[in-house]
Amino acid sequence: MQHRITLIPGDGIGYEVSLAAIRCIQASGADIQWDNALAGQDALDKTGELLPQNVLDSIKKNKVALKGPITTPIGTGFRSVNVSIRQALDLFACVRPAKTYPGVKSRFKDIDLVIIRENSEDLYSGIEYQEGSPETADLIAQIKKDTNKNIRPDSGITIKPISKFASERIVRYAFEYALENNRKKVTCVHKANIMKFTDGLFLQVARQVAGEFTGKITFEEAIVDNMSMQLVQKPHNYDVLVLPNLYGDIISDLCAGLVGGLGVAPGANIGTQMAVFEAVHGSAPKYKGKNKANPTAMILSGVLMLRHLKENKAALRLEQAVSQVIAEGKFVTYDLKPDPLDPSCVGTSEMADAIINKLKKI
Ligand code: NAD
Repeated sequence: MQHRITLIPGDGIGYEVSLAAIRCIQASGADIQWDNALAGQDALDKTGELLPQNVLDSIKKNKVALKGPITTPIGTGFRSVNVSIRQALDLFACVRPAKTYPGVKSRFKDIDLVIIRENSEDLYSGIEYQEGSPETADLIAQIKKDTNKNIRPDSGITIKPISKFASERIVRYAFEYALENNRKKVTCVHKANIMKFTDGLFLQVARQVAGEFTGKITFEEAIVDNMSMQLVQKPHNYDVLVLPNLYGDIISDLCAGLVGGLGVAPGANIGTQMAVFEAVHGSAPKYKGKNKANPTAMILSGVLMLRHLKENKAALRLEQAVSQVIAEGKFVTYDLKPDPLDPSCVGTSEMADAIINKLKKI
């Protein structure tokens, strides 16, 4: 069956890793027609918009997209296109597996974690009050009136909404994911001891949902700071983690570090109707155009996409090809060599060539 998929190449290293991924996906045996869609700085330059409506329309039509990373300059008015896509399409679940492949440099062997991050609210909702604006002064005055708490007048403020609806939806997704994927345990990560009305609500809802899965999936709770330490000391104690948006973002990078770094960490943003697959890493602008970035994370995001499309044979072949190339350690990018300065490392496109050659033998 032919699938029509929206391809957003992204910017920075996005073009290089996207091209590598679509070549490998095509070689996996799946029949895919790509609809190209520009978003980010390039789209702004060409159309005057960071996220043109045709990008969202294309994903709505095709239901599935593969997306390269897009730069979000820090501290400017430039809103994150990545966050906007997730919000506009209500891709509420961010699924990030962290798995060690033999041959990857890592302190640990046999890690197999899945991070499920709530994608639609929390401090990433984009509700912000700029330092010095009249709206911020009004809010500070209102908070003083309601709570008798002082906020310094020269403050910027970001709002953290956490709802029962979104918490229940993500926790249920995590438990259903665990059941479907033969996982044993879900750990809810929070800071409910301090933020009682937001993280406390998330935890309360998680406990309720967990009750429906008693006897099938074990439920555990962990405070996010302790969880960070536990993960770097005893990652094998964990299975599926479910977290609000901000902690999910941070902990998924931590887990990427446990399994060899951002170069090998794939991800998926899932909604009820649509799904967008993308690597955990960003656009690594310093490597742009250098044919240096590791394409594995983007290719493994393609593997997740193939599974979502029920192209299980193609997904398995592609994952095996990636795994074998990494295990052999010859045609791999700098970050997968024991010494990153090893001159025998290959570039993005040559690693993709090696994966495609491997696919011919599987
Ligand atoms: P980053 O993930 O782009 O890069 C951090 C470092 O990780 C790089 O300098 C590099 O050393 C390494 N790295 C990342 N990807 C790699 C790869 N494929 N191969 C080898 N090494 C790799 O994070 P950053 O520098 O914090 O962010 C750069 C830009 O990307 C920012 O504008 C940020 O907002 C954006 N970003 C986008 C997404 C997304 O599109 N979903 C995600 C994260 C960050």
